[in-house]
Amino acid sequence: MRLLLIGAPGSGKGTQAERLAQRYGITHISSGDLLRQHVQERTALGRQIQSYVDRGDLVPTGIVVDMLRKPVVAAVEAGGYVLDGFPRTVEQAQAAFPTAHALGAEVQAAVHLDVPRAELVRRLLARGRGSDDTQEVIEHRLQVYLDETVPLLEYYANREWMFAVDGAQPPDAVHQEIVARLHKLSAFASETS
Ligand code: ADP
Repeated sequence: MRLLLIGAPGSGKGTQAERLAQRYGITHISSGDLLRQHVQERTALGRQIQSYVDRGDLVPTGIVVDMLRKPVVAAVEAGGYVLDGFPRTVEQAQAAFPTAHALGAEVQAAVHLDVPRAELVRRLLARGRGSDDTQEVIEHRLQVYLDETVPLLEYYANREWMFAVDGAQPPDAVHQEIVARLHKLSAFASETS
């Protein structure tokens, strides 16, 4: 199974991705976690991207695509992926498509976790992850989401494999709603029964 989770900062992508990975035996790949790991370990890539992450700006597409290639290929070989945080822009979706297509690893479903802005801000302030969770950076990340990721949702809007769920519910309820919607997609009729 190959899934995308799309949502604003604080929408619960990580939590839901983890649960889906467990339920379906697929690999959870978080672009944000991988980028933060590079920053923490001070790799060459980490030094190159730290300022973007700290400001709440998107890391350039080429860097993110290169970073994800290996883990995605490995995940596909191991049974599938749930990608959390990628793609985040139309440009990223377009950049990744030819590779995914060549590998026969195109996405089978994309889930939009829909959460009202006030709830996002509340959750992000409560989380306090570090340098990119100050009020100012949070506001900026939400603006980047509106400017860059909402157009991606519009770009995918008429695909039959894209759906939105109410991400303001408790985590269990969100998970159940995603699973129920996946069951209804013909691509998963056998995998989710
Ligand atoms: P959140 O969704 O809560 O902002 P993430 O962990 O997904 O948290 O992302 C944190 C930061 O990592 C982003 O603000 C951005 O700087 C960087 N990042 C994550 N995914 C991408 C991506 N697909 N493209 C560019 N930058 C990314």
